[in-house]
Amino acid sequence: MRTAAACTRGKRKTLFLDGPRERAGDPPQNSRALIFRIPINRVNWTTSSFLIGTFVLTLTAVPLYLWHFGIDWFHLAVFAVLLAANGFSITLGYHRLFSHMTFRAKLPVRLFTLIFGAAAFENSVLMWASEHRRHHKHVDHEEDPYDITKGFFHAHIGWLLFKLLPQPPFDNVADLKKDPLVMWQHRHIHLLAVMMSFVLPTLAGFLWDGWVGALGGFLIGGVAKVVVLQHGTFLINSACHSIGRQPYSTRCSARDSFFMALFTFGEGYHNYHHEFQHDYRNGVKPWEWDPTKWLIWILSKLGLTSGLRRVPQQTIYSAQTHLRALRRAKR
Ligand SMILES: [Zn+2]
Ligand SMILES: [Zn+2]
Repeated sequence: MRTAAACTRGKRKTLFLDGPRERAGDPPQNSRALIFRIPINRVNWTTSSFLIGTFVLTLTAVPLYLWHFGIDWFHLAVFAVLLAANGFSITLGYHRLFSHMTFRAKLPVRLFTLIFGAAAFENSVLMWASEHRRHHKHVDHEEDPYDITKGFFHAHIGWLLFKLLPQPPFDNVADLKKDPLVMWQHRHIHLLAVMMSFVLPTLAGFLWDGWVGALGGFLIGGVAKVVVLQHGTFLINSACHSIGRQPYSTRCSARDSFFMALFTFGEGYHNYHHEFQHDYRNGVKPWEWDPTKWLIWILSKLGLTSGLRRVPQQTIYSAQTHLRALRRAKR
């Protein structure tokens, strides 16, 4: 991913979740810059500091706070509410609405997911969708930003810690660039992220219990929530390309996993998603755990979403029977 500035002015700066990777044909890394095989000259310091800093704070400051001040149900409630609001904004908004356009949404849904999605510190929807569309187009190949063939760590978080040189072209989101709301979010992504992710829970905590409450709101509703949310998203790129079944296709590494769906608001049925990316459902069977599809469906009954795209049942059935026949033939 690149920065808002990089996108609009063609000039690169570093943002929180910048995307990296070295490409085939790049000049070899300066050996003096390599310490313990870490390409120092490609470290994305801003992104790395944020990801590592919030992770360390969650493992140290959060338990210390809880040990010293005890568990307050209010902080747990803020954590849960914001985790749900930010998480669904990523899965329903960033992913299924803006990246894949699997349904249409009215202004309140679009605005909500843009504002609360920013709080995930996963960059603007414009940048996120650009990376994600490239992932689908080039999955398991060099141009895939989170290519699992480079290893679990790279697909999970490594691709964010190191800069990709040169930057890939930003040429697959022309439709989103025409959306004034998307561009508004893109221009103000830094401010929105800080306000919605950190200032909001800190302020809520202060109103609840003064400065002690504010600190709890910041650490639990802000820092810990961001870490849980981000690693949930990262698991889709790493674990969902490593763990699970492939009932619909073996064309790529994507896999279906109920277990992963539990941690990813239903995005764990990744084999189905890669085969039928324009379906608003990831867990296509009625019983499959996909709260994002249920929320999209409920919103459609309220008139807030429409045009929910479904792959015909016969097409899905054909894909499964074709794969079963191939597997039988191989035995
Ligand atoms: Zn997708
Ligand atoms: Zn994928």
